Amino acid sequence: MTIADVAFDTPVRHSFSYRVPDGWTLRPGQRARAPLRGAARVGMVVAVHEGAREELKPLARLVDAEPVLSKGELDLVDWIAAQSLSSVGSTCAALLPPPTGDGASRLAECVAAVAERTAAPKVAGPKPELLIGAGRETRVLERLEASKGTALVMAADVETVARWAQRLAKIDRTVRLDSGVADDERGAAWRALRDGSARLAAGTRSALLAPLPAPATLVLIDEHEAAHKPPGAPRMHSRDVALERAVREPLALLLTSATPSVEAWWRAESGLIEMPPREPGPWPAVSVADTRGILRREPLTPPLARAIRETLAARRRVFLVVSRLTSSLACDECGAVVRCPECAIAFAYSRAAARLICRVCGASHPLPDTCAACHGRRLTPFGWGAERVEHAVRRRFPDARIARWDPDSVRGAKGEAQRAAASTADVVIGTRGALRLFGRAALGLAAFVSPDQLLRAPDFRAGERTLALAWAAAERVAADGAVIIQSQNPGHYAFEAVARQRLHEFYRQELKFRAELGYPPFRRLAVLSARAGQRDDTRRLAEAVGAALRGNKGLTVYPPTADRSDRIRRIVTKGGADLPGLLDDALREFKALSAGRGIIDIEVDPVEWPF
Ligand SMILES: [Zn+2]
Ligand SMILES: [Zn+2]
Repeated sequence: MTIADVAFDTPVRHSFSYRVPDGWTLRPGQRARAPLRGAARVGMVVAVHEGAREELKPLARLVDAEPVLSKGELDLVDWIAAQSLSSVGSTCAALLPPPTGDGASRLAECVAAVAERTAAPKVAGPKPELLIGAGRETRVLERLEASKGTALVMAADVETVARWAQRLAKIDRTVRLDSGVADDERGAAWRALRDGSARLAAGTRSALLAPLPAPATLVLIDEHEAAHKPPGAPRMHSRDVALERAVREPLALLLTSATPSVEAWWRAESGLIEMPPREPGPWPAVSVADTRGILRREPLTPPLARAIRETLAARRRVFLVVSRLTSSLACDECGAVVRCPECAIAFAYSRAAARLICRVCGASHPLPDTCAACHGRRLTPFGWGAERVEHAVRRRFPDARIARWDPDSVRGAKGEAQRAAASTADVVIGTRGALRLFGRAALGLAAFVSPDQLLRAPDFRAGERTLALAWAAAERVAADGAVIIQSQNPGHYAFEAVARQRLHEFYRQELKFRAELGYPPFRRLAVLSARAGQRDDTRRLAEAVGAALRGNKGLTVYPPTADRSDRIRRIVTKGGADLPGLLDDALREFKALSAGRGIIDIEVDPVEWPF
């Protein structure tokens, strides 16, 4: 009899075996419906073999009339699952168009179209390229127009995908592989790419495994975006999967970014990625206003208030960038951030416990009385919220059209109303997400009210984030406009790099910091979260997980720290390139011993610090 091994969208890593009913033709890479724990569920057929196991239940129904994944693509799925410690089934569920209808009924018409696909030979394509600087997206379009081969452009959100689909449609027929179109359409788009009836596609992360017959180009827009690693399995950044695809398939990979991730920049410096140099384009005047010791009652410094007045008088638009308030301390007098001496990231400040806690190493300290740098006595979690800034602007400029938009936290009808108002306002007060309102050079003035809130986020990527936001804002200001950065850290290298339009200076310093402290790209990080019924159970579980990990010499394991609610305990670990494998080994034994005592969740290579 023929047996099919099926992987389901569950955290369980192994597959389940079923009998293939007589008369079915079935290959790995096809999805099928099969009974699992009392329900018929869709799973991915990962292997088909002969055997004799009479006890097996039969498959219920075929979902795909033909394999949606080739052998090579299934191998890639295995790799993704192993790297992200996800299951193969969950990885497939996240990275394939949703199953639609009943594929078996279409079987007859489709079977003839399926060519036998074996594992793709490992033919590396050209070296991946990282396109930076002005005009990077135009260069992508020129490349695709000239190439004549298949191409997939991936962006982090549906809005950007829609914009790219329109651009691509001017070159050739373009299909969409994102949730902005109906499920049927996504499925049809997948098949059209496979059979060559469409050569251009645009999509979000769920398009990552889309078939791209050679010669092919895969483009990842804004590779530095954290949104390329959305929540849910497989927890892996699309850049990392795309780079792996480029090793396995003869495709040209183009990454674009105004401010590359430190990981991508480092690859370019190491010669693993090409990064064609660019001449600097037009750039606004960038000034940094020193706010040390001032700015307690008024979010707008005199230079900023003056710049707003002049910009409005010239009938041009103003964007004031605000950030979430962070729970960390800085000195009002010298701007120094209170950091963990071991890990160099800002301590998280717990007002309730009156303590400082490091979210990497778990160190906990009492609140200091004075600043270690200047012995000043004003250490505060000070910052400006969006509402306070709006209030101040309205008071100063009563006749201007002023709107506030925070797309990262205000959603639904209220968010839409905010957006509508912001799209026509003279002055927009908004968080990072509001940048998408403005095209290149659309602004007369962009200003950062207190970007120190970003710099002192308790995250080793705080500097990288700050650079990305300040640079993106500067790109949206006209060359004869201005960028004003009000900061207690006016000499920070992220601001200097933006002011002088010199990316290299930022990465030189940032890579030095990352190397010295053992952060990515030099070491890999993972965060393990433990949760059990009661707080004491959670604590015990976390201690036991930590002990299991410490048994492995290749891992640096920090003590568990509690989250705010004290319901979850997290452990940060560091390791080398083999980190996922080491974690998997350590935890497999541990899970076998402690099955059912709680939930352990693992995020490898986190991009958003999870607490
Ligand atoms: Zn100080
Ligand atoms: Zn620390």
